[in-house]
Amino acid sequence: MPIPSSMRAVQLTAWQSEPELREVPVPRPGPGELLLRVDAAGLCHSDLHVMSCPPGTLPYDLPMTLGHEIAGTVVEVGDGVDGSWLDRLAVVHGVWSCGTCHSCRRGHENHCLHLDGRVGFGLGRPGGLAEYVLVPAARQLVAADGMVATELAPLADAALTAYHAIRLHREAIEGGTVVVIGAGGLGHLAVQILKQTTDAHIVVVDTRPAALEAAREHGAHTTGTTVAEAVDAPVDVVLDFVGADSTLAAGAEVLAPGGRLVMVGGGGGSMTVAKGRDLPLGWHVNAPFWGPRQDLEAVVELARGGQIVADIEVVRFSDTLDAYRRLREGDVRGRIVVVPD
Ligand SMILES: [Zn+2]
Ligand SMILES: [Zn+2]
Repeated sequence: MPIPSSMRAVQLTAWQSEPELREVPVPRPGPGELLLRVDAAGLCHSDLHVMSCPPGTLPYDLPMTLGHEIAGTVVEVGDGVDGSWLDRLAVVHGVWSCGTCHSCRRGHENHCLHLDGRVGFGLGRPGGLAEYVLVPAARQLVAADGMVATELAPLADAALTAYHAIRLHREAIEGGTVVVIGAGGLGHLAVQILKQTTDAHIVVVDTRPAALEAAREHGAHTTGTTVAEAVDAPVDVVLDFVGADSTLAAGAEVLAPGGRLVMVGGGGGSMTVAKGRDLPLGWHVNAPFWGPRQDLEAVVELARGGQIVADIEVVRFSDTLDAYRRLREGDVRGRIVVVPD
């Protein structure tokens, strides 16, 4: 099918406002770049955070197309790109890393030294909530031939972020007890990843009964609406997918000596850490960020094998703005995935 000259895109045009559906030119790939037709795009709480920022908070130029959780089909490649990528379905690694710096060379692309405050597409660069998206290099893609695009999109952020947090702390998780706080878009995948790749005792805390029921189906051993209710013994790792003052405090409260409090969610919470105060001996506090490419490859393999399945609600592209409103209101189970009209 010929590539049109213009397309619809979900753009943020002003800070502290709702995005708009706008008609924009279809970008064409320059040297090293690839153009994807977007087959599925996940909506993320980070998008709401970006929309809500006062001017000057983020070094992004507006208007900017949102969307950083994308699966799509390669439809055009620039000079120097292996032509065998054409027509392949892929999930996009959303950190536009340089590939050559100290962090990238060690496989920590998520900590790339050259991100410049702009992480990648939809987060400083033109995003994938559009009919087409330009990707800067083939190394941003993980091939997913034969898989289903709507199931792939949430792997790019929700599953990758959860997997990365778990991998970083695998040593403490194995044979131990893990508390997952918040069983939403990321947390429900964390439960599955823990069940499938570790032998941990899994405790899940969420205020929503339906989320707890889903967590039990996914393999949670114990559930509760508060940390205090769900936990009756010291915990080796707390994975806080909310990141509010209250969840951080509740997680710190149940940590075992040597335990790890992992702040994944960006809920605006903060805590003071000090030796000999509120945390147990030998504490660790960590705030992982998204994940490197190798972890995206790992979650694609888990999904390919049916070991993890994102709980998704599919909406049409035209309904994206309404879907964001529902996400803001918390009226969503799992992940909203947008597909072409
Ligand atoms: Zn996100
Ligand atoms: Zn780099």
